[in-house]
Amino acid sequence: MDPIPGAQPAALHQAFRGVWVRTGAPTVDPAAATLLDFSADDGPDLGFAYVLPVDERRAMVMAVRMGPSMDLPDPLPAVARVVGSSRWTIEAEERGVTPLPGRPAPRRTGQRMLRIGARGGRVRASTGYAVTRVLADTGAIVASLSRHGHPFGIPPDPRRDRALDAIWLAALARERADLEPAFLALFRDVPVDRVLRFLDGGASPVDVAAVVAALPPGPFLGALGALARQRLIR
Ligand SMILES: Cc1cc2nc3c(=O)[nH]c(=O)nc-3n(C[C@H](O)[C@H](O)[C@H](O)COP(=O)(O)OP(=O)(O)OC[C@H]3O[C@@H](n4cnc5c(N)ncnc54)[C@H](O)[C@@H]3O)c2cc1C
Repeated sequence: MDPIPGAQPAALHQAFRGVWVRTGAPTVDPAAATLLDFSADDGPDLGFAYVLPVDERRAMVMAVRMGPSMDLPDPLPAVARVVGSSRWTIEAEERGVTPLPGRPAPRRTGQRMLRIGARGGRVRASTGYAVTRVLADTGAIVASLSRHGHPFGIPPDPRRDRALDAIWLAALARERADLEPAFLALFRDVPVDRVLRFLDGGASPVDVAAVVAALPPGPFLGALGALARQRLIR
């Protein structure tokens, strides 16, 4: 199973807006991070919030939306749940829109040029995150430079990961907010170290089997059928 070269899936994005809040009263539980709060966004796309506590009065509250829209989600409903009736202020904010590429561009762009980072396809299409893949890529480029004198002796992305990303993105494009149960099953029913290896890359066949077994099959079989019908995968 492999994405067909040149075939273009629908454009999807991960849009996110987060605020660092300071509360007047100790309303934050510093021992409890919230990773997937789906109650904060009732739009048509897959939207959730997460809360990373710093101490009893400070937390980072991030709203994330994944889908065709590039509009930034609003973290304030999730902030309201953290701060309660306490006074609060925003100390800093971060925001961005990360394309979730269904088909990464070629990395080699000339005799001596290699794309790196996000432009080099290091954003994992199904998560919107890149840091661990950028670090692994950097090590591989350094090794290639010292061994061959050029940066091109780096491993390609595993076919399996590209196929799983294509299926995940097709399911996201079709199901949108209805994909919430799949996200919850992933983090509720699979040991977290297996999930992290699956999402970051470097998962073993046993890790992948554990993830596939936990996910509801309907959305992903539907996505696979849609990709095959559109000749985006073979
Ligand atoms: C607010 C925000 C938070 C994020 N958080 C995370 C996270 O927690 N974890 C994660 O994995 N990913 C995260 N990401 C995704 C992020 O895109 C990648 O992790 C990472 O920053 C991408 O690295 P990069 O080197 O490709 O691009 P960048 O970090 O954007 O660096 C590219 C650099 O190249 C420079 N540049 C561009 N064109 C030229 C040119 N022609 N000549 C010279 N310089 C040029 C730019 O000015 C920039 O400094 C986040 C993204 C954003 C926007």
